[in-house]
Parts: sequence; structure tokens; C-alpha cells
Amino acid sequence: MPYRVDRAFRAALVAGAACATLISSATFAAAPVPPVDVPALRATIKTLASDEFEGRAPSTAAEPKVLDAIIARFKAAGLQPGNKGSWLQDVPTVEMTASQFSPMVIKAKGLAPMSFAIGKDFVAGSYRFVPQTRIADSELVFVGYGINAPELGWNDYAGLDMKGKTAVILVNDPDYEMQGEDGPFKGRRMTYYGRWTYKFEEAARQGATAAIVIHDTYPAAYGWNVVQSSWTGAQYFVQSANDGMDQTVANAWVQKSVAEAVFKAAGQDLAGLTAAAKQKGFKAVPLGLTMDLSFDNAIRKAMSHNVVGLMPGKTRPDEYVLYSAHWDHLGRCEADKSGDDICNGAVDNATGVGALAALADMNHRAGPAARSQVFLAVTLEESGTLGSEYYAANPVFPLARTVGGVNMDGLSPTGRARDVTVTGGDKSELTTLLRKVEKDMNLSETPESHPERGYYYRSDHFSFAKLGVPMFDVGLGEDLEKGGRAAGEAASEDYTVNRYHQPSDEYSDSWDMSGMAQEVELFYRLGRGLADGSDWPNWHPGDEFRAIRDKSLGEAGKK
Ligand SMILES: [Zn+2]
Repeated sequence: MPYRVDRAFRAALVAGAACATLISSATFAAAPVPPVDVPALRATIKTLASDEFEGRAPSTAAEPKVLDAIIARFKAAGLQPGNKGSWLQDVPTVEMTASQFSPMVIKAKGLAPMSFAIGKDFVAGSYRFVPQTRIADSELVFVGYGINAPELGWNDYAGLDMKGKTAVILVNDPDYEMQGEDGPFKGRRMTYYGRWTYKFEEAARQGATAAIVIHDTYPAAYGWNVVQSSWTGAQYFVQSANDGMDQTVANAWVQKSVAEAVFKAAGQDLAGLTAAAKQKGFKAVPLGLTMDLSFDNAIRKAMSHNVVGLMPGKTRPDEYVLYSAHWDHLGRCEADKSGDDICNGAVDNATGVGALAALADMNHRAGPAARSQVFLAVTLEESGTLGSEYYAANPVFPLARTVGGVNMDGLSPTGRARDVTVTGGDKSELTTLLRKVEKDMNLSETPESHPERGYYYRSDHFSFAKLGVPMFDVGLGEDLEKGGRAAGEAASEDYTVNRYHQPSDEYSDSWDMSGMAQEVELFYRLGRGLADGSDWPNWHPGDEFRAIRDKSLGEAGKK
């Protein structure tokens, strides 16, 4: 998901708040920034977005061509193969398509069974790579928001043994209705605890047999139609050593009206329990009901690849800074009026891969940094950020030795800007470096206008953040030097409506590359700032990723 799209939703220009200065001045040793090689950047994008590359769908005949082109650019930029002498990291994937759904049947003593229909009332799938999913007589337990946040003293599963049971869970987090961002779960701003992916992960950690999220349009930020379409058809996973057996047997969503009917049958009131679940110390409620559900899974395995390039550090080569951009796109897609059925993905994300190579080249010309720099072109972003997820789970360079990084997804071909946009808010000490770079480049900062939508949790940087590595998700804003905010918003709107994920996301020789060069310079200053520094910027205290980072740094002998 290119965050370029989010820009259509961003408006207000607000000065950023100051944050604690925890990055030492050594980080900011002023060194000249080598100029961006714009013709090479343009050529890389043009090549990757050409029809010959067929829209860069993973595991197709186009993939080897894409990988070769990226490796050639990485070599020319002075990188070394990053994965023990190889440029590639294998990413084994599993595609699962569920069918033959039974109704979801809810039963209780003395009640007629209630039966709900796939699609209309519920959607479901398994994260276990097994041909048959069968659940019978699993007790339903309402676990509120399904959150276990030790740093906040909040555990909706306190005292429960979920073995054999099904967790019934509210979407979002307990304080999402606040206007400000001061609540324990950052108020209106969504935290990872509010994302549905977290709900299923936590239910699995609790040993639950199944998990059901109750859909509600406002806190979910999208309607039932979106849930239904994204849970229909093939679902993609990375292969894991245990075939996903540490996951629940099944995960599901139900319509809110279904949950209301089920709670009523249990003699409970969903609205009342929802209010109770917002309070700290909420105790989970067994509903006295059981669930039956079954379906079959067609399983297909495939292989794709991440490209890994390395520039070794001069003085601390065992410390790493990460740059990432996804190389994949949608491949052949629905034809437009002219019959063009190749979704070229020029902006999304040939530009990011072009920027990755441009950054390697600039660092090559500047000479090695103190720390090593890793340039990672990941696969399968469009299938759910799987390539980055696989790297994070199987890191070539230990995450505990990875200082931080920059992800790039969708650079703008619309000229220079006066501002920078940031998703996720001020989550980490990286903000100190960002503010310094903004000042040096004379750029203002435009915060997200919809922090409740949780965009930070939806692209490749998040795969690393989730395992503790602080990552930037920043880019140029819409306040263009030529035409100001009106021109920027119009360009962004044009992209979102007319090009995003369509055959018309194509490269053009008429692109104004000045903004892209400016954005690459921004990424260079952020990455090189980390690579020449000696600090280990952490998540701010209370952030949801602070604990996992403290743990991994502690294990690596760092503080
Ligand atoms: Zn993208």
C-alpha cells in the first residue's frame, strides 16, 4: 500500500511538537550530500516499469528479469551481495484458498441453534497450512478489545485459559473515541493494539482455538464490503517452520448485527459490554455459547525473492542501517479502455527501488559510513507485506544490531515540495533526527490528518517496527514549490483516482524529477545520519514497540 495515497487525506499544516533530544550531536556531523544521479534514477524506473517487466508480479516469468535488473543497478552502485555471497534471499510463500464453508453455528443449552451465512454474516480463514479446518463446540468468550499490554498494565485475557475456546473481540482500541491523543492507547490515534492483525496474533499467543472480530464501520475505518472482499479468494502467507501451527485454528469477522443477536441470545448486551471493555480492569465474559465452523483449504506453494545489497561500515561494520522498498506490483490486471492489462507500478513502487539504488550510489560516492548499510528490495508487499515480514522473521543481519531504517513506497513525480509528511506520529527518538534534517532542508512538517486510520501499520517498515526496529515512514508533502498546496492536492488526487493500482500507473519522460531528487536527498540525510552516528534511537517510553526493542537490545548486550 503506497502511502502516497494517504496524502490525499492529509491537509492541515501543523508545527510539530518538540521531543527529547536523545541523539547525540555526533550523529549530525555535517558532511556534503552527493548529488542524486537523476538520469540513472529515471532509467531504473523506466526499465522496471516497462511492459517487458509485465507489472512485476512475484513468482511469475517476469520475476527473474526484475531481480536481474535490480542486481545490475546494485552492482553499478558499488554494493556487495548481502546474503552470504548471494544477492537473493529466498521467500517461500503459501497461497491458501478456502471453500466449502459450513454455516457458523452458535449453540446454547435450551436454545435453538443460530446459523449464520458465509459472506453475508461472517468471513473466515485459517492461518494454519492444513487442508481442512474443523471446529466443534468451541466456547465463546468475550475478551473486550483482546489486548495484552504489559507496559500499560492492561490484560483483557487476565486469568483466562483460552485452550479450546474462541475469543470474541472488539475492533480498534479502548480510547479511539477520544478527540485528542492523550489516552492510554493514544486516544484517537490508532495503536497497533487496535489493528485486527494484532487481535488474531494475540488470540493465538493466548492459545485460543479461534478468534472472531466484531466489525463496526467507524472504528474499523472501512465497511463490511471491504472485509468481505479482502477475505474472499486466495490469501497469501510466508512459509513458516511449523506450517502456521502456532496460529489459531480459524480467524473470523462477523457483522455487528450478528454479534448483537448472539450476545442477546446469551442474555448479554453488546453495547453494555463494549462500554465495560473500555475500562481498565475489565474482566472477560464467558458467553455460555459454543461455535461450530468448518471449511476446506486449497494450498499452493511458491517461491519469490528479496534482493539484499550491502555496503560495509568503516568503523562499526556489525551495526546496520536498513533501507527498504518493495519491487513487486500487481502484474497483469483488469484491462483499461485501451486494452492495456499491465499494471506497471511506475510510482508504486519502481520509484522506491530506483531511490534505493540511487541512495546506494550516493553512499558509494560519499565513501563508507561508520555503520554498515543494507539495501533491501522486498517482494510481496502487495500481498500483505510478506517479503519484509519474511526478512524480519529470518533477518540476514540481526535485528538487534539494526539501528533503524527508512522505507520508501511511492515517490512523487510532481516537483519539489516545501513540506514533509510523517505517519505514526512521534513514536520514537528518530524524530530528533527527522527534525534536524527538516531544518537543514528548510522543510516544514505536515502531520497525518487521519491518525485513527493506522496507516503506519500497513506497509513494509511496519514488519521491522513490529519486531522493535525503529523505522521512518516519511515523504515529501503536498505543499509544492510550484502551485502550493492546491497543486499538490490535485496531483495526489489524480494519482489516487486515475492511476493507483491501475494500468495507467506508467512512467513518462515528462515526469518532473526534481521532487524525487529532493525526496531521495531527504532519505539520504536520514539514513546517513543514522549510519554515521553512534546512537541507538529507541521507541518512546509507553510506545507499543518499546518493550520488544528493550528486550532485543538487552539480549544483544546493548542498552
Ligand atoms: Zn507500494
